[in-house]
Amino acid sequence: MRSLALIGDRKLELADAPPPPPPAPAEVQIRIKAVALNHLDLWGYRGMAFAKRKLPVVVGVEASGEIAAIGSDATGFATGNAVVMYGALTCGTCKACRQGRDNLCENVAGIMGFHIDGFARDLVNMPARLVIPVPSGVSLRDAACAPIGFATVQHMLFDNAKLEPGETVLVHAGGSGIGTAAIIMAKAVDCTVITTVGDAGKAEKAKALGADHVINYRSDRFEGAVRKITAKKGVDVVFEHVGAETFNGSLLCLKRGGRLVTCGSTSGPSTTINLMQLFQQQYRIIGSFGASMRNIRESLAKMAGGLLPVIDTEVPLADFEQGLSRLASRQVFGKIVVTF
Ligand SMILES: [Zn+2]
Repeated sequence: MRSLALIGDRKLELADAPPPPPPAPAEVQIRIKAVALNHLDLWGYRGMAFAKRKLPVVVGVEASGEIAAIGSDATGFATGNAVVMYGALTCGTCKACRQGRDNLCENVAGIMGFHIDGFARDLVNMPARLVIPVPSGVSLRDAACAPIGFATVQHMLFDNAKLEPGETVLVHAGGSGIGTAAIIMAKAVDCTVITTVGDAGKAEKAKALGADHVINYRSDRFEGAVRKITAKKGVDVVFEHVGAETFNGSLLCLKRGGRLVTCGSTSGPSTTINLMQLFQQQYRIIGSFGASMRNIRESLAKMAGGLLPVIDTEVPLADFEQGLSRLASRQVFGKIVVTF
């Protein structure tokens, strides 16, 4: 079977690998159909001092597929069922896992495609408890964007920022995979969405997705634009993932008691903040990483209800690296999906 592995910094190798053994009793075997790309793939590809990945490692952190074989104790699946997989090997037994807070598992063995061999291969065995059926009507291409792309946003906006209908939210980098998902999810609950983009083409696309106000951060300071749009009131929620370049400006955009939720720092990991501002304005700053199994089910249900991920491009497995370059170039609008 085909298997795409990272064998060194910026070195990918597509090789013929032996297929996995038949699934163990509590496992299912999945034939991978699509892998969606994420910044996590870029971190692994480039290598990072503070996030050590396994080498060599089969890449691919987010994927969909079809059930190819079923272990003797795995129930609820039939061969050919469309499924997605949780992106980390959680223990399933710790307090966090038992409470359904899977992304806070105390004994997590690692992230697929980063610390553990991932999904960019034809066949994968997974514990059946980490495999989620895809509702009918949702394509495998779209479903591949549920475990991280959609579920991360679901977790950020609704579990962490507790976004309420009618609130105003600032979504940074509205053209990114998670930015596009945040726009459509917030609009779906009747929020006012302000978003930032880096060029006029993306501004049009963000408007077409439903964003109420689009700020080109290259020509306008977003802090000033948000003040103007909200008549100096500020927004209820900021959806952050840009990091150092925008973080303080994001805090300035919040109304008193506003919530900032962040899941990334693509422009740099460090910043300083004004603590007087933090407590006087009663801001809530919430870090968010990954999602729960429930968030993935919620994401798939949203897709089944017609809230579809924005797909920028589809590339074949052999062009995985070109997909990563496109992601790194910030030219994307939506998700890049690798098809099998
Ligand atoms: Zn656990």
